[in-house]
Amino acid sequence: MTLQIPSSLLPSDGRFGAGPSKVRPAQARALLSAGDPAHPVLGTSHRQSGVKDLVHRVRHGLAELFDLPEGYEVALGNGGSTAFWEVATASLVRERAQHAVFGEFGAKFAASTRRAPFLAEPEVVEAAPGSVAHLASSAAVDVYASPHNETSTGAMAPVRRPAGTDQLVLTDATSGAGALPVDLRETDVYYFGPQKVFGADGGLWLALCSPAAIERAAEVEASGGARWVPEFLSLTTALANSRLDQTLNTPAVGTLVMLADQVEWILAQGGLAWSSERCATSAGILYDWAERRAWASPFVSEPAERSTVVGTVDLDEHVDAAAVVGHLRDNGILDVFPYRKLGRNQVRVGMFPAVEPEDVAALTGSIDFVVDQLM
Ligand SMILES: *Cc1c(COP(=O)(O)O)cnc(C)c1O
Repeated sequence: MTLQIPSSLLPSDGRFGAGPSKVRPAQARALLSAGDPAHPVLGTSHRQSGVKDLVHRVRHGLAELFDLPEGYEVALGNGGSTAFWEVATASLVRERAQHAVFGEFGAKFAASTRRAPFLAEPEVVEAAPGSVAHLASSAAVDVYASPHNETSTGAMAPVRRPAGTDQLVLTDATSGAGALPVDLRETDVYYFGPQKVFGADGGLWLALCSPAAIERAAEVEASGGARWVPEFLSLTTALANSRLDQTLNTPAVGTLVMLADQVEWILAQGGLAWSSERCATSAGILYDWAERRAWASPFVSEPAERSTVVGTVDLDEHVDAAAVVGHLRDNGILDVFPYRKLGRNQVRVGMFPAVEPEDVAALTGSIDFVVDQLM
């Protein structure tokens, strides 16, 4: 049975994924127009000025967007945020890390440092999915790690240094960077990928690194002993290449084009304050709607912890979320399924800056229509 949502209810764009996420048409057009006719960028060497100029735009655009504090540097490399967990494990943790775990992504980084034979068992501060775990000062750790936005559950945590520590703080901002307020002085490494807020393709990691983090990597990588730091996982090597506006090995050039376009688009609209407010507006629409429906409720109970970029809404047992998601998909509303391993009767909505707040409102109207038909 195909259930047809009236076109007057449908959003103008049906992409609500939590990553890869909606690509603006202008970003796709930028792929065609990158460079000039005599010097196209796609299909040319990443060691020449065309691609290096792109990396330069990305690094300088991010520095402006995040109001980069004195001495911080923008590094990038291949492999996405998952690769960056291994970079951090190899290059930044001296002996023991503490991880705030309140969902799948925080847990995955904790698994990385636990697996490293040269590191001690990590400390884990855990909270149930749908809430937030906070880093706690500890004399036994030299790295603190927390997600900024836990994409698997739709909970966000403030970026804050634990009191009284001079050890490193690492923030997984993969789905929050560029759309959540942040003061980078509260962290030493703020890392993310291009396929969420920045609406590009995956495959890269970007890391905003403090002088202390840069110094730590140099110290750890030079320490030798039982640790082998492959060149691919060396933050020091990545930094050296980034300073030359290049990557250790060949990057996806199309990703860089779309990323540069999105960074400059956000800056032109008003920067981080603009994007944060726009996403908060979208989130307000989603959560207000969920609270007004008898059969829906925000998954994250504490309002201040409800993500303003990735919203999760539980549906009650009489409404089959998988069926709702399937009907939405048939009507061109895509990727609002919950994180697989969370296993909840839920919809999850990416509300990144590219998504129009009116489209989030249209999405809620479309869900109302589907649920009404199913009941
Ligand atoms: C998507 C995501 C990741 C994984 O990113 P990849 O680029 O696929 O490695 C890690 N952390 C968070 C918070 C994410 O949202």
